[in-house]
Amino acid sequence: MAVEPGRGNAPAHYTLRAGTQRLDLNACLGRPLRLSWSGAIACTHCGRATRKSFGQGYCYPCFKRLAQCDTCIVKPELCHYYEGTCREPEWGERHCFQPHVVYLANASGLKVGITRATQVPTRWLDQGAVQALPVLAVESRQQAGFVEVLFKETVSDRTNWRAMLKGEVAPLDLAAERDRLLARLDSGLANLRERFGHEAIRILDERAVSLAYPVLEYPRKIVSHNFDKHPEVSGMLHGVKGQYLILDSGVINLRKFTGYEVEVAA
Ligand SMILES: [Zn+2]
Repeated sequence: MAVEPGRGNAPAHYTLRAGTQRLDLNACLGRPLRLSWSGAIACTHCGRATRKSFGQGYCYPCFKRLAQCDTCIVKPELCHYYEGTCREPEWGERHCFQPHVVYLANASGLKVGITRATQVPTRWLDQGAVQALPVLAVESRQQAGFVEVLFKETVSDRTNWRAMLKGEVAPLDLAAERDRLLARLDSGLANLRERFGHEAIRILDERAVSLAYPVLEYPRKIVSHNFDKHPEVSGMLHGVKGQYLILDSGVINLRKFTGYEVEVAA
């Protein structure tokens, strides 16, 4: 599923990609949608058939071999490039040794997150955030990880996806939260600057952005569809938020089923 931010206050725009098909999901709101999984899964990296999907879309050999499937991607503070053990040093140089942003977002309450600078605002839309504010710019993924670890002493890095999908999200003053947190983490950030250089970790002066989603109606109760249990998923499309389709019959996290061969009928 591809997402583009809406212009102005317009909701984000979602396109479902299944094989060569492209389906404009915003145009399908309020209409029936049926997804049928054939039972086949193809690794998103090498294309080989796999009976089970590892790490959201990979075959087992790729999952064990690729740097993007390593634990240090989820916990960048564990980056081991300098130990000479990066699974794919060249990939690491392209993806991890790039400017990253540490941000605050509101998807189901206040959370901290990190992303490559080029992934803003896609990353926020992927999380179903309704507000986001870039707080710090850093030089690498590992530095972003260290900063995030500091923030995690007081702020969660998780989203309560059920609350996110129910649309029960109270607006926050992210700028005030930023100021409060930066004051509190001042000495921790100073320590990181000692280590990485004064220019490495910069406080940004940006404004919070609001993000809207194409949702006609939020579910009151969350029921999840799962292709592994029922290969047929159908219902009236009530909305799209984060990586989820919201159908009147339940929700489905499409990211979880990356690589699944699915036929779509709208
Ligand atoms: Zn593979």
